[in-house]
Amino acid sequence: MKRYSAFAIAREALRHHAGWERAWASPEPRAQYDVVIVGAGGHGLATAYYLAKNHGITNVAVLEKGWLGGGNTGRNTTIIRSNYLQDESAAIFEKSRTLYETLSQELNYNIMFSPRGVMMLAQTEHELRAWKRTAHANRLASIQSRMVTPDEVRKIVKVINIDGPRYPVLGGLWQPRGGTARHDAVAWGYARAASDLGVHIIQNCAVTGVDRDATGVTGVQTGKGPIRCNRLCLVVAGSSGVLAEMAGFRLPVESLALQALVSEPIKPVLDCVVMANTVHGYISQSDKGELVIGGGADGFNNYTQRGSFQHVEETVRALVETFPLISRLKMLRQWGGIVDMTGDRSPIIGPAPVPGIFLNCGWGTGGFKAIPGSGWATAEMLADGAPRALAAPFSLERFAEGRMIDESVAAAVAH
Ligand SMILES: Cc1cc2nc3c(=O)[nH]c(=O)nc-3n(C[C@H](O)[C@H](O)[C@H](O)COP(=O)(O)OP(=O)(O)OC[C@H]3O[C@@H](n4cnc5c(N)ncnc54)[C@H](O)[C@@H]3O)c2cc1C
Repeated sequence: MKRYSAFAIAREALRHHAGWERAWASPEPRAQYDVVIVGAGGHGLATAYYLAKNHGITNVAVLEKGWLGGGNTGRNTTIIRSNYLQDESAAIFEKSRTLYETLSQELNYNIMFSPRGVMMLAQTEHELRAWKRTAHANRLASIQSRMVTPDEVRKIVKVINIDGPRYPVLGGLWQPRGGTARHDAVAWGYARAASDLGVHIIQNCAVTGVDRDATGVTGVQTGKGPIRCNRLCLVVAGSSGVLAEMAGFRLPVESLALQALVSEPIKPVLDCVVMANTVHGYISQSDKGELVIGGGADGFNNYTQRGSFQHVEETVRALVETFPLISRLKMLRQWGGIVDMTGDRSPIIGPAPVPGIFLNCGWGTGGFKAIPGSGWATAEMLADGAPRALAAPFSLERFAEGRMIDESVAAAVAH
């Protein structure tokens, strides 16, 4: 595949942009692959890329029922950070954040990584204590993140109402190298690079059944016919329970809608990401000037990609307290994605109860930031047949063993 470069843009400008290749191939499926990955979201595509790049395994298919990146990967609010409380989480999220730093160069695709800083507000005494604990844990894990005073918060986030009517800002946890990236570009960049290495990405190809015999998985049934494999990786976020049922086991995962919205574009007012977990809303400003706003998940299980009106109202009401300027803005559009939540709000990466099936799910409301690290760790697991250090703590067995990686108590929302 030809490299993208300033020279290539100049060359194509001179010939009416007629020479660009398709970013990825659209092959017909083969009858058999070494590895089949279900779900062409960021995690599935990154897994395929690192399988090919790091392990030389290229006889790989990524099967996608819709269009690639059309799930949560193309629907999130793009927050990237790694200042998690537990060591296991900090390790995989920091690996991911580090990979994000150079991902545009690695993939030869501009993913628009913008390490503009993430501010997590402390608006109650409990939250202040929790963030202090996280800041200490982060320091021990060599993650760059620190507590800031209300005055520092005001200097960094100029449009904030620091004295808030219900919840004044008592401080914040600041990660200066956290930020955002363009979500579609992450999916497109991994797809292009994986396709270039020989991976088959097959869109409009829903998996409708999982074939198994006494020894384990033997293949999948799809809208484009049966495909044989003896290593199958399910990376389908909110549809994880559905795929697990096809394969004959159950997962401790609930699916529900999480939504986001954007305002009309305005001049630059906010140059970092702010998360206000107590009032439950988070906000950043896109390059186009829109305020990108996210809130909580629906309080009941569902598979809609919309989200309820009541949540829009709650989120905006919460943010108006902290950012009064929002009250004068029109909201342009709103959407939802189906997130897969585990009880401890940490993901599941590991072998499934059926031999040959591997899982990558449970990223819930916070898996965009994890895409590179998760893909890296899942590729290791598929190549070796067992997880290595980064993924090992996130096995399914932890629920039976009571060995939770609890990120739910430490943060009211897990983005
Ligand atoms: C509104 C919203 C805001 C969010 N904000 C953030 C944030 O700021 N930061 C952050 O880190 N995370 C955020 N997240 C979470 C993040 O988006 C997800 O954790 C992450 O994108 C999950 O990626 P994935 O590849 O696992 O899943 P997805 O991108 O959902 O991909 C799964 C794919 O599987 C496909 N699939 C399903 N069933 C089948 C089948 N039977 N056959 C074939 N294909 C199938 C789907 O079509 C889909 O394309 C947010 C999520 C939402 C919804």
